[in-house]
Amino acid sequence: MKINVNELTTKHPIIKDMKQGNEVFWKNPNYQTQKDLPFSLEDIKDAEQRLTRFSSYIEYVFPETKANNGKIESEIINIPHFKAEEFPHMKGSLYLKGDHALPISGSIKARGGIYEVLKFAEETAIKNTDFTTESDYKILASEPYKELFSKYRIAVGSTGNLGLSIGIMSAKLGFKVTVHMSQDAKEWKKSLLKSKGVEVVEHVQDYGYAVKEGRLLAENDPYCHFIDDESSSDLFLGYSVSALRLKNQLQAEQIIVNKDHPLFVYLPCGVGGGPGGVAFGLKTIFGDNVHPIFIEPTEAPCMTLGMITDLHDKICVQDIGLTGKTVADGLAVSRPSKLVGSIMTSLLYGSSTVKDNQLYKYLKTLQDTESIFVEPSATSGFHGLKSIIDANLASENATHLVWSTGGNMVPEEEKTKYYEQAKRIAETE
Ligand SMILES: *Cc1c(COP(=O)(O)O)cnc(C)c1O
Repeated sequence: MKINVNELTTKHPIIKDMKQGNEVFWKNPNYQTQKDLPFSLEDIKDAEQRLTRFSSYIEYVFPETKANNGKIESEIINIPHFKAEEFPHMKGSLYLKGDHALPISGSIKARGGIYEVLKFAEETAIKNTDFTTESDYKILASEPYKELFSKYRIAVGSTGNLGLSIGIMSAKLGFKVTVHMSQDAKEWKKSLLKSKGVEVVEHVQDYGYAVKEGRLLAENDPYCHFIDDESSSDLFLGYSVSALRLKNQLQAEQIIVNKDHPLFVYLPCGVGGGPGGVAFGLKTIFGDNVHPIFIEPTEAPCMTLGMITDLHDKICVQDIGLTGKTVADGLAVSRPSKLVGSIMTSLLYGSSTVKDNQLYKYLKTLQDTESIFVEPSATSGFHGLKSIIDANLASENATHLVWSTGGNMVPEEEKTKYYEQAKRIAETE
């Protein structure tokens, strides 16, 4: 499709700012309008029950999940020192949702990615053996099942973290795995996967290309399940389960969410599946009392661009002259998901874009004030909060939850490099 940028810019002047690489905040004019959605609360519960069925298996093969009974879940963390440093005058309270520390793969992808692999394993076991949903799922770790799974291949295209979560989970079950990595993928992620027996295909092109190549190669193989980050419902629903869990966590912390105490949730956005699934779950459970905000890099604001223009996956950031390149490798996506954009039309409060240097600054402050390391992508949520504060949109009684989406798998020396770079930026700006 031919995109007429001048026409689009006239209609939506904010695109002019985006074209110039400026940070923007876009408030969604269609927020909370009526719209039929392709999924419901039943779908979220079905996914949650599936994860519960797998908990005995998960606990058995990943002992680090024992304390949480085989549940892959993160904490909500109070960060008063960070707040005092970065947002001393903000109204309301601030928490971090610690997905940077999720077990197994250390990023939000441990939700959707692992869920889709488990679902495929369950289907495969049921189809080929006497396994049922009543079985003890621990037996899936035994030789006969591993042998069954070894006949199948799971494939995925990724900027890195999705590949990690799917690679680690699939290899554990015994599947053959191919991960198509984009140019942004870090060397250590590729090496780690190779060490687990995962086939890593390195592409010199971007994320969209890695997905397309993976999809193409999988198409002709009946024994290959391709996990399609641009359109998968399973990924989406896997992410959405977090909302049911969050509801219980907020209750346990006595954090009230109602009309007078709104919850603002800040979600870093790449292709949109992760933040979209979480936002959908939250809207389904908390309705008008929760406000999801997406954050993207100024060079890769694909979801924001798709939503402003209503063109969704029919437009990419290169169409308006942006590079798609960013230090936030998890967000280095040029074209949004086919599935998520239209679902978010009525569910997304707004979105905000952020420059790479600002991500480094948040990374440094979080490390210095709270001793928490997160990768650059995962700091972007703070900038959504900044947009809301600057636009004076939050009340005294609001709770702000910044979703920290990745970090724990980053090797020590890479962490040091990020921190040193952050220090240089903080000193020179
Ligand atoms: C993948 C990822 C995201 C965003 O998820 P999408 O589904 O691509 O929108 C955010 N942060 C990190 C660290 C990620 O790896």
